[in-house]
Amino acid sequence: MKINSYNFRLMLIFSYIIIISIIFVFSTFLNNVLLGLFIALALSFIFVYKISINSRNELDKIAYTLNKMAKKLEDKINEIEIKNQHLVAILESMVEGIIVVDKTSHIVSVNPTVENIFNISKKNLEGKIFLEVIRNNDISDIISAVLKKGEFTSCELTLMWPVQKIFQINASPVFEKGIVSGCLLVIHDMTEIRKLETMRRDFVANVSHELKTPLTSIKGFLETLLEGALDDKENNRRFLIIMQNHTERLNKLVDDLLSLSHLESKEMLLRKKLFNLYQQVVKVITNCGTQLKKRDMEIRNELPINLSVNADKDKIEGVMTNLIDNAIKFNKEKGAIRIYSQDQNDNIKIIIEDTGVGIPEKDIPRIFERFYRVDKARSTELGGTGLGLSIVKHIVELHGGEVGVESVEGLGSKFWFTLPKQ
Ligand code: ADP
Repeated sequence: MKINSYNFRLMLIFSYIIIISIIFVFSTFLNNVLLGLFIALALSFIFVYKISINSRNELDKIAYTLNKMAKKLEDKINEIEIKNQHLVAILESMVEGIIVVDKTSHIVSVNPTVENIFNISKKNLEGKIFLEVIRNNDISDIISAVLKKGEFTSCELTLMWPVQKIFQINASPVFEKGIVSGCLLVIHDMTEIRKLETMRRDFVANVSHELKTPLTSIKGFLETLLEGALDDKENNRRFLIIMQNHTERLNKLVDDLLSLSHLESKEMLLRKKLFNLYQQVVKVITNCGTQLKKRDMEIRNELPINLSVNADKDKIEGVMTNLIDNAIKFNKEKGAIRIYSQDQNDNIKIIIEDTGVGIPEKDIPRIFERFYRVDKARSTELGGTGLGLSIVKHIVELHGGEVGVESVEGLGSKFWFTLPKQ
């Protein structure tokens, strides 16, 4: 059969359409539509270019249509690529960990948060069976349940590895043509939230307890007085003095709580100015004169006479009073206290050293916590609220400095804080 040029070109076009269709079907089968689209597009350009320069009329129309189709395909590919980039950006910036597993529990993909949570790199996770790389039976059980039932599951888990953390796990099934083809895990770190909740609960319990003790005592003595002790000339005054002490304790507690809440509120503004710290310490020591004399204590202010700091004068006076007061309270009879400074590059370090009872090693990490006291009975007897060091820490940190303590039980303590020079 003789094939003229027109028929030949028609055959060429039809065989081209058939080839493209085969490539499409094949690429869908291989799950790589993008590759298929790309090959098809490349072929379109070659064929259409050739067709368009050699033909007219119908062939021109077909060439034009194919060109339009190629353009549409190209736009579609660009659109898919942009969407893909958006998706990657979202996943990478999420604070929640995302894990996608297929129906055989193999990890398909993870985001960077998952690498941090489990301390395993992406390349060691993707493609592996979940339980082989993340040895957590609880999460693995959740995945199995979701793959089996195809239902959303949510629960809170405490992971002990690599570090103890609390996570909220949301697991959703992934469907493909109505059949469960995988599972999507969203892992939300709840450790900080739960820690704050516990702190708030403990704080409320502590405050209630601290208020209740003096109130119970005042109420008891009031009742005793009303029931007749008022006329008891020997005891009535003693009872009133006890009530007065408890009232003072209540007052101090409320004052300290108010200071703390004020310091914790972000609106707290420091009134910084340059002042002489040596002179301020002289003033604090003078105020503690009676206490020092009573316990026959020696105190040495070894700060440089011209030491100036740029800070909130009243607040730093509070810090010095608290630390010197503690150094007296928790010292031995005839003990000694030394106040001196060390010049650090950008900071000035102030040290308050005493020869007192010291702090057991196990208590040191918690000593700046609210209401934390080594010997609660002793602190209460000395009029303490257990909030002093916590207030000190807040004030110093507001100034951009740090606090710390070095102590040996039975030998003494060195409380220190730093203040930036500027
Ligand atoms: P308070 O003095 O009201 O008890 P603080 O917050 O000032 O509360 O101190 C908390 C606890 O830290 C004290 O109860 C005490 O056990 C311990 N502490 C503080 N300063 C010293 C010190 N210089 N030597 C030994 N223990 C101290």
